[in-house]
Amino acid sequence: MELSVKAVKKMAAEAARNEVLYRTLTDAGDRFVALREGGFRELADPEGLRARGRAVKERCLANMPGLLRLLEKRVTDRGGIVHWAKDASTARGIILDLVSRYGIKTVVKGKSMMTEEIALNQALVEKGIEVWETDLGEFIVQLAGEIPSHIIAPAIHMNKEEVARLFCDKLGVPYTENPEELTMVARRVLREKFLGADMGITGGNMVVAETGTLALFENEGNIRMSTSLPKVHVALIGIEKVVETWDDFSVLMTLLSRSAAGQKMPTYLSLITGPRMSDEQDGPEAFHLVLLDNGRSDILGDQVLRDSLFCLRCGACLNVCPVYKRIGGHSYGWVYSGPIGILLDSELLPPGSARDLAFACTLCGGCAEVCPVLIDHPKMILDFRRRLAEDPMWKGRQVLSRVLPMKLYSRLSVRPVFFRIAGFLARGLQAIMAPSGEWRWLPGPFAEWGARRKIPRFKRPFSRRWTALKASFEKTQRPGR
Ligand code: SF4
Repeated sequence: MELSVKAVKKMAAEAARNEVLYRTLTDAGDRFVALREGGFRELADPEGLRARGRAVKERCLANMPGLLRLLEKRVTDRGGIVHWAKDASTARGIILDLVSRYGIKTVVKGKSMMTEEIALNQALVEKGIEVWETDLGEFIVQLAGEIPSHIIAPAIHMNKEEVARLFCDKLGVPYTENPEELTMVARRVLREKFLGADMGITGGNMVVAETGTLALFENEGNIRMSTSLPKVHVALIGIEKVVETWDDFSVLMTLLSRSAAGQKMPTYLSLITGPRMSDEQDGPEAFHLVLLDNGRSDILGDQVLRDSLFCLRCGACLNVCPVYKRIGGHSYGWVYSGPIGILLDSELLPPGSARDLAFACTLCGGCAEVCPVLIDHPKMILDFRRRLAEDPMWKGRQVLSRVLPMKLYSRLSVRPVFFRIAGFLARGLQAIMAPSGEWRWLPGPFAEWGARRKIPRFKRPFSRRWTALKASFEKTQRPGR
């Protein structure tokens, strides 16, 4: 898939004007931030745990080929079947083959960004399969014909009034804004689907190589039903989700649960090691694990960008991101959004197609401060920008907006006289064009930029203020004072 830069910019511009969206995302984000802070406050050594989490990811990624082979053996020993998919189309093909082989008519799905990454729903629907998202947020965005706008809260961009209207229109139920009643409507609809489905498709939060166990975290119980009621369970996961031992799992589970929603552990934790055994009461007759690469091996070979494979998909970096809160998840144009979305979209989409995303960042560093596995997003985003600056094609198209202004600034900044004149002119210009801090008018592409920004008043040049400060400091240091 290629991103249309024009379409993404248009979506971002429209979203940035949407004050309801901004309020909705800010309120929800603040709630997640408070939960996360509460969860980490309970820990004796949160920083030590984050460092351990990072060390676990570093070791497991360094040993990934061996761990994946061990995982395959363990899953196969327990009667499961492992499939290897080098890219999205291979993964879709594998799952569509399974659908035909088992004669599947209806699929229930647990929340999975990985299935969004390979656009699985669309492929299944084109084959005439009935597909139902069973996570409440995913169910809502599916009814709305949208993709998730947040890694752990897919419908975070919608308020209860919007959900009420959607249920009314699509499900023909009486209008209610009561969240509990809306949840009960979804529950009634989905219960029937669980009972009639022949295949459950999920992602997975981790796979533990030493026992070949797939771990799924959730708070609603829908994944448990999707994995145990249908006769076939298919799990699709990225190869970077493999960990070596249960100790590794325990460290990452603590970090992920606390980071995502301040929980000690998820409300429901499903640990699946193969299909139903002969002495077991329930569970699927067949279990398939699809391991997806889709560019991850290449990322692993990049010394700077490989850290993005540490991501646990907790969503914490989105909740603190000022850009995400302003433009929402859909404006990023693909399945991943926020700071980690900039990295993953740029790495996983065809080269160059998501390059403008590298500029959807203020480099404030809030994301790196909250990341449970210490991913340094700003450093990596800066590296993207550096690589872009070296690309002659991109450079050619950015001459007016980026290259020339930066060249001008670099020349001015090393010539004090010209720098002072430029400062004098800027102060004069500000007095005319933004006397109260709000821009009266800006030309062309700057109009959009200035529409929602106040600028602080330019004060006396720093060089003059510095000289005055230094003089007054020296005065206070003289002997006898
Ligand atoms: S990058 Fe870090 S903070 Fe963001 S979703 Fe991944 S693990 Fe969470």
